[in-house]
Amino acid sequence: MTVANSSFTIYATDSRISKGLLAIPRRLSREFPATKGKILVVFDDGIRVEPKIYVPYNPKIKECRVFGLSRWFSRHGIVAGDAITITVEDPMKGIYRIALDRFVQQRRAAEARRQLYKADSPEISGEQLRRLAESKKEKVQEIAFQEIALIAQRPLLKRKRVTALQRGRAEAVPPALRALLEALHQGKCQVCDFTFKKRDGKPYFEIHHLEPDEGHHPMNVLVICPNCHAQLENATVTEMERVVGWLVAARINGRRFRVRHLLCGDACLMSLQCLPRYALQPALPLLQRAFDGDAVILMITFAGEFLRTLNRSAICRTSI
Ligand SMILES: [Zn+2]
Repeated sequence: MTVANSSFTIYATDSRISKGLLAIPRRLSREFPATKGKILVVFDDGIRVEPKIYVPYNPKIKECRVFGLSRWFSRHGIVAGDAITITVEDPMKGIYRIALDRFVQQRRAAEARRQLYKADSPEISGEQLRRLAESKKEKVQEIAFQEIALIAQRPLLKRKRVTALQRGRAEAVPPALRALLEALHQGKCQVCDFTFKKRDGKPYFEIHHLEPDEGHHPMNVLVICPNCHAQLENATVTEMERVVGWLVAARINGRRFRVRHLLCGDACLMSLQCLPRYALQPALPLLQRAFDGDAVILMITFAGEFLRTLNRSAICRTSI
């Protein structure tokens, strides 16, 4: 007896891909018709139903088979080892959904990413960020890290002014960037590390724009506690020290503070990757001066993985 929405995963093999068929193990044959005929198939997250030939268990070949899948295989570039999930959509009408897991995951991730930047509140952006991380099977902080690194490659634009009710007031940082920064720094002040939990359990933090009229570029914003924020806004701030665009230290009323950058190693490297390889070497002493030795080592360790990440994420470049 077949049950609606029951699903199972099978793995593509070279010989079946070349024949354009999916082999269904005998133990799953109860989910399919008992006789040879046509079943109706919906591919991935589509809605169009296509008839396909189904051949029940045959003791000679020791499996059940669904034929006529060559076009779908080639459309997705399916290779041996790809996980394919078959879901019984409607057992009465004999409708089955055949979906390539990695395709569904990519679609899910792309949608979560779109919603992350479209959201009109940091809470919704935060939720979409969690979904994005889940669909990519990575940590939220890691995804925030990758996203901010990508945003940081964009040019710095002028900060807009709120025009509707509070004329002249600079607009707040977009919800998506706020959610990404919260995830990346866990709400901790980049100057003094302080944060506290609000009644809703989330960390309290403010966002400081280094150049008030410049836009919400990651290089122009800091996650900051109210105390440090007030100092940066009101005290005498001098010797703003930047490394490849990122603020790494400043003097507040004469006292030097370092600015913590979780992203620093990779983000610097990302900026540096625009330079030819030979230019990276002379940049290292500069970086060493700005960061702990450990941070530089970390940066070099991350380099390979990070460049791969950037290539992977190249398809996800959208504007906020
Ligand atoms: Zn602080």
